[in-house]
Amino acid sequence: MPQPGLRPAGGPRPCPARGQAGRGTVRVHSQQERRDLCSVCGRTCAATTGTPFFRLQRPTGLVLVVLNRLRWGCPMQAGVHPFLLDERTVAAWLQRAGQHCQQVHQHLVQQGQVDLQQVQADELWVKLVGQRVWQAMAMAAPSRLWLGGVLSPQRDTALITALVQQVRVGASSVAMLVCVAGLASYVTAFRRVVREPVRAGRRGRPPLLVEPGLLMGQVVKRSAQRRVISTSQRVVRGTAEAGDRGRTGGDGDRDGHPHRLHRAAHCSVG
Ligand SMILES: [Zn+2]
Repeated sequence: MPQPGLRPAGGPRPCPARGQAGRGTVRVHSQQERRDLCSVCGRTCAATTGTPFFRLQRPTGLVLVVLNRLRWGCPMQAGVHPFLLDERTVAAWLQRAGQHCQQVHQHLVQQGQVDLQQVQADELWVKLVGQRVWQAMAMAAPSRLWLGGVLSPQRDTALITALVQQVRVGASSVAMLVCVAGLASYVTAFRRVVREPVRAGRRGRPPLLVEPGLLMGQVVKRSAQRRVISTSQRVVRGTAEAGDRGRTGGDGDRDGHPHRLHRAAHCSVG
């Protein structure tokens, strides 16, 4: 499916000012028709170009209300029936919004510029229509910035490695404390992703070593009758003192357990 707002191949030449945000080259052309004018190329375009609302027949406010219901975990029907919409329409809006958010995430977060400090990662079951899948996700604890999420039918090393790659893409450095809840795959995945070739001037493939600065802590939960009765920490990589520094520099979750991540996920997944 072509992205909304992108010109098809063979269309008019792209504007020389394309992609240069914040330069003030775009101003309102018509309030009534909701069109903007580019002062560089002199062309006009719909004000919704490049947004999920491009060429939608319904008012932007309605689309936002419906999408917000779904975002907070309401079932699809809660976005369909009260507004006399077609289920396929709402599904298409959701698809567009998801693709747009993914692009924004790649553009803003996955650029290797985030000082992560402390990362919390975990997995949970997600119910989809007719199936359940695992969602692995990660968050930078101090800023509560969502770093990425990956879905898979299996909770395996491939799932965790895909998540760790998303974390790595956003990170400005690997000097971070990673807190995970007891799954050994994380240790393997981080060791696999966060390592660089060490060139010693010898011929052949250089050895890969884990970059310095990465600290890993595992939170081990003990449960009784499906309730967590105690948690303890295990330093997997680095020292306990360095781990403590990382945690207290974070959001104050002294036990390192990804509570915030869970709360955020329950809001977004539903
Ligand atoms: Zn232009």
